[in-house]
Amino acid sequence: MIRKKCPECDSTNLVLDTGAHRGKYKCNDCGYFGAFVIEEDE
Ligand SMILES: [Zn+2]
Repeated sequence: MIRKKCPECDSTNLVLDTGAHRGKYKCNDCGYFGAFVIEEDE
């Protein structure tokens, strides 16, 4: 299982934006928004 983490604050509280910016992630903790997230094998 892959866990996705915010590159700014290491939070796993990410949501995938499926709207206009398809394929980008938003962090609910620090507000980071972008396509790059850290993917970690569990
Ligand atoms: Zn964050």
